[in-house]
Amino acid sequence: AVASVADIRKTFLDFFASKGHTVVASSPLVPGNDPTLMFTNSGMVQFKDVFLGTDKRNYVRAASVQACLRAGGKHNDLENVGYTARHHTFFEMLGNWSFGDYFKRESLMWAWELLTEVYKLPPERLLATVYAEDDEAYDIWTKEIGLPPERVIRIGDNKGGRYKSDNFWMMADTGPCGPCSEIFYDHGPEIPGGPPGSPDEDGDRFIEIWNNVFMQFDMKEDGSVTPLPAPCVDTGMGLERLAAILQHVHSNYEIDIFDVLIKAAARETGTADLSNPSLKVIADHIRATSFLISDGVIPSNEGRGYVQRRIIRRAIRHGYKLGQKTPFFHKLVPDLVKMMGEAYPNMASQAQRITEVLKAEEERFYETLANGMEILDAALADGAKVLPGDVAFKLHDTYGFPLDLSGDVCRERGLTVDEAGFHAAMEAQKAKGRAAGKFKMDKALEYSGAGNTFVGYDRLEAPAKVV
Ligand code: ATP
Ligand code: MG
Ligand code: MG
Ligand code: MG
Repeated sequence: AVASVADIRKTFLDFFASKGHTVVASSPLVPGNDPTLMFTNSGMVQFKDVFLGTDKRNYVRAASVQACLRAGGKHNDLENVGYTARHHTFFEMLGNWSFGDYFKRESLMWAWELLTEVYKLPPERLLATVYAEDDEAYDIWTKEIGLPPERVIRIGDNKGGRYKSDNFWMMADTGPCGPCSEIFYDHGPEIPGGPPGSPDEDGDRFIEIWNNVFMQFDMKEDGSVTPLPAPCVDTGMGLERLAAILQHVHSNYEIDIFDVLIKAAARETGTADLSNPSLKVIADHIRATSFLISDGVIPSNEGRGYVQRRIIRRAIRHGYKLGQKTPFFHKLVPDLVKMMGEAYPNMASQAQRITEVLKAEEERFYETLANGMEILDAALADGAKVLPGDVAFKLHDTYGFPLDLSGDVCRERGLTVDEAGFHAAMEAQKAKGRAAGKFKMDKALEYSGAGNTFVGYDRLEAPAKVV
């Protein structure tokens, strides 16, 4: 029998426990220690203050399986869902950490040992990348681990400017930072895509599975770096990506959890073709939205709640595309609980509440969805290549279509949205309201995207309201 996701989690934690690591529980999707970070997007978030030296733990080695969300903040993978084999909004990250204890050698040797001797991945399928200047990591891979040099790829400063590289990690503009070494798995020449660092690296043939970050410098305002007194290790491996390999499938969406969720989405939408990409979107989004609700994020028009609303409405729109005219999405909750409830009892115990919140949002959006889709279709009927900004705004303002939802529809048809026009229309309405002097706040908040005030990647303009 192939390893289940539950086996894979346990094997990971047992392995690092055997190497002296303290197993730490997953922390909530809403970071408790950083009001400006949208969502927990990696395993290190709960340890951020330990790396910064403002928090201390009674252990120097830790391991976890962390629930992560990459939507609406830094590393927004919402647009990748349904398009790549490897991206989810919600996913689980396996991680191990050294807080000033072990460094590159142990980190890489243990990663290799776990992958090839415990999980028994074929070594000839594995590749590694290192930061261009990191000879130390390069030598560990080639001389100590014995990876052939042609499968150890140096990744340079490909984003312009020293240290601006996929293989150079920074916690922020200043502070702890350092080179990474990433491990990739080659799913085989029949799949399109090139090795890391090549022009077609974004394909799904060579899939990144594990990032090992070596925090070894402190970056100053002027961009210069000095060595940290106690270098740290921060690693993250995508559980679903590893499961795809171990379950002998290519896509994350074919692993055990997704097999069940995709069939459930097909059941609820009466879809016969299980390869329909909308089913993947729905399966992904039921995880993200249910876990968000269990961590206290309910749909609203601002901050995190608006991201939640956007994800739910995208899922509903995909159901609508499959012919669903009444609420269906909330009916997937029991399937999710069946697959993930044991590992996440806090989510499972809230199944009833999750179902109710989703159902209410569905009922609300179904009131305007069909009419909104008619307007959208009409605007594109004459062969337009771009959805006009004022139409996108009307859809948003009157029909509850978040901008990215209209964008998702357009993208499926090879079209785009005039985003500048959308924002201009929104500004114009706000100005009008201010001029009229009787701008009713409740109406304004209804669909005006008042929550859509993200000013950077993972930063909110103001700390998110805790809901
Ligand atoms: P990619 O380049 O494939 O988008 P990444 O470089 O953004 O991945 P990291 O930030 O290095 O990812 O995160 C560590 C690991 O977490 C990755 O190596 C991958 O296995 C996993 N991971 C990252 N993003 C996702 C996602 N959206 N869905 C599933 N797994 C992910
Ligand atoms: Mg990414
Ligand atoms: Mg990457
Ligand atoms: Mg990475």
